[in-house]
Amino acid sequence: MNVLVINCGSSSLKYQVINSDTEEVLAKGLCERIGLDGRLVYQKAGGEKEITEADMPTHKQAIQMVLDALINPNTGALKSLDEIGAVGHRMVHGGEKFACSTILDEEVLKAVEECNDLAPLHNPANLIGVRACQELMPHVPMVGVFDTAFHQTMPEKAYLYGIDYDYYEKYKVRRYGFHGTSHSYVSKRAAEMLGRPYEELKTIVCHLGNGASICAVQNGQSIDTSMGLTPLEGLIMGTRSGDIDPGAMEYLAKKEGLDLEGVLSVLNKKSGVQGLSHISSDFRDLEAAAAKDDPAGIRALDTYNYRVAKYVGAYTAAMNGVDVICFTAGVGENGPNTRKGICDYLGYLGIELDEEANLVRGEEKIISTPDSKVTVICLPTNEELAIARETVALVNG
Ligand code: AMP
Repeated sequence: MNVLVINCGSSSLKYQVINSDTEEVLAKGLCERIGLDGRLVYQKAGGEKEITEADMPTHKQAIQMVLDALINPNTGALKSLDEIGAVGHRMVHGGEKFACSTILDEEVLKAVEECNDLAPLHNPANLIGVRACQELMPHVPMVGVFDTAFHQTMPEKAYLYGIDYDYYEKYKVRRYGFHGTSHSYVSKRAAEMLGRPYEELKTIVCHLGNGASICAVQNGQSIDTSMGLTPLEGLIMGTRSGDIDPGAMEYLAKKEGLDLEGVLSVLNKKSGVQGLSHISSDFRDLEAAAAKDDPAGIRALDTYNYRVAKYVGAYTAAMNGVDVICFTAGVGENGPNTRKGICDYLGYLGIELDEEANLVRGEEKIISTPDSKVTVICLPTNEELAIARETVALVNG
């Protein structure tokens, strides 16, 4: 079956068509600047990237352009839209309602809508994408794969905050965690690579991209993760602060004359390694600066690595040990210096990094020595493939 995987944001949309039998990507691309001037990027497997500038005032028009590109007689990957057997949608927040992926019928869509308050930037955009696909492909089954679902196995002690329990009962204020599809895919794949039973491993997945989170996976289940009610908590990220004393928000608000929205904008958009360095949120720029002994670049990278290492320590304690540590996403897959900088803190776990193997970028590879007490792996994530697999499993029932 061919699955169209859609990841719909407020002004952009990423897509892939995956043949679920061969797991081959037949075509992929994105729509940018939806609602503004519009730009479609389309690439058929083995083909060149095609870029089309065209008005796409709504998500429906954007998806229509994607579908037209997919069946274009010259460069299309498909002969007709009948070749799309299902659509898998990345959904950001499923609250406590969704502990696994689900077929998107009207009742489910209503339940997703009820989670909108929890992710006001993301969920409405996801829903717009689903509605647009439903209109354009009314007979094709739609599946929702939630970023939060994998973490629904967390025990109460991991997901509760130390605040009045009424806030949990009334408003469901708690840790949800994100990047669940990636943490699930990577932890499973690590077990496969090692030929070990997934249900017996203690794995820590470091998803280090522009957004970053870390997850403790014990016996095949997420037992703790660093992002919280929103994706702002936890690790230092590209532009997000991660953990910070909530009292600092009031202090900053007074000093800078900001309201709550203003402070949150600072924490989401002007913090992280970007804010720490004043150089960039991109680790390539930071590493180039650090290589020239620029103290701002060094400061940002040191602070970042230290925070990740602290979480690894915490999750090792939570699981009473760790067998495998995986590095994934943009920085995790492509940043040997970051991986080494983090592992340098972890000698107490008996970790020995194979410095030569650690030079790998974007490929699955064990980067610890055979003697290392914990296996460390560079393991590219593949959220689209994970979504396609979940979609097919549900549609085939
Ligand atoms: P993601 O959100 O997973 O797409 O990750 C994006 C981030 O990965 C970028 O902002 C970069 O900081 C980082 N990244 C991508 N390529 C490299 C590289 N070759 N070396 C270091 N960091 C990289």
